[in-house]
Amino acid sequence: MAKQFDTIALVGIGLIGSSIARDIKDKGLAGSVTVSSRSDATLKRAEELELGDRYTTSAAEAVKDADLVIVSVPVGASGTVAAEIAANLKPGAIVTDVGSTKGSVIAQMAPHMPQGVHFIPGHPIAGTEYSGPDAGFIGLFKGRWCILTPLPETDETAKAKLRTFWETLGSMVDDMDPEHHDKVLAIVSHLPHIIAYNIVGTADDLEAVTESEVIKYSASGFRDFTRLAASDPTMWRDVCLHNKDAILEMLARFSEDLAYLQRAIRWGDGDKLFDLFTRTRAIRRSIIQAGQDTEMVDFGRHAMDQK
Ligand code: NAP
Repeated sequence: MAKQFDTIALVGIGLIGSSIARDIKDKGLAGSVTVSSRSDATLKRAEELELGDRYTTSAAEAVKDADLVIVSVPVGASGTVAAEIAANLKPGAIVTDVGSTKGSVIAQMAPHMPQGVHFIPGHPIAGTEYSGPDAGFIGLFKGRWCILTPLPETDETAKAKLRTFWETLGSMVDDMDPEHHDKVLAIVSHLPHIIAYNIVGTADDLEAVTESEVIKYSASGFRDFTRLAASDPTMWRDVCLHNKDAILEMLARFSEDLAYLQRAIRWGDGDKLFDLFTRTRAIRRSIIQAGQDTEMVDFGRHAMDQK
């Protein structure tokens, strides 16, 4: 595949940064890749994994000469990183991020962006419950959506270049208003994680049912929540703190609907329960039809057991 950028700087090299690094290398998208991470340990691991060509713990140093800068750090750290790199950004460079919240990232980063630098926030809708440079893999973004939330004045050529980059990684790309992004993600990602953290926490706190029973019988449903609840605590703390309004709005709506369900159970209203469960089953079918999950029974676990 053809080179798209002379130099790419990756600031943050965990699950997302290292997956991007692997795809860049695999597809030959950059002349050279500079990797930066704040800790020596993560940087050393990135070097062992040969994720880039140059390595530094200084984000400011990493972005010198870069035509594309991709910031992949917890959203709460975006402002500090932006302040650190601002003075060293090359005129004409594209700066993007992968953060799970967009309004807050824009508020933190945009004020630091110098004239002549194209700041285009982004969010690949792809991930796993693992973190760190070892967790990344080639193809994480294949067949997944990547949402860009460009500011109104964004240069069209820069936008097209970034779009092409994500498309080369196998993503489908959508443009969205940041506020709308934060509402959509609150319901499709943030709330499911919060519910999972909550139910796993509740099970852990129960006195009447022992922890060993919860674990022993988890295949009845509980274990499907534990994948989400095993996600990185720093990332999810930051998501909750940085998409507060949209999350609280969706949580209020969720609580209302839960109370409706609770009432239907209390009053033995089987029709209401049956109607809701029928409607939700159709959503699962739509997700499979859209290619966003496998149609294999129980997420393919039985097929894996037989190997
Ligand atoms: P990760 O695997 O935990 O890696 C985080 C990276 O950020 C590491 O290089 C880490 O450096 C660095 N970092 C952590 N705290 C920092 C701080 N305070 N200042 C500067 N650097 C810091 O995280 P990830 O899963 O790749 O997530 C990165 C971003 O992608 C987040 O904004 C997240 O919202 C977004 N995202 C995640 C997923 C997902 O499923 N995980 C999906 C889509 C988007 P050290 O290790 O050297 O400390």
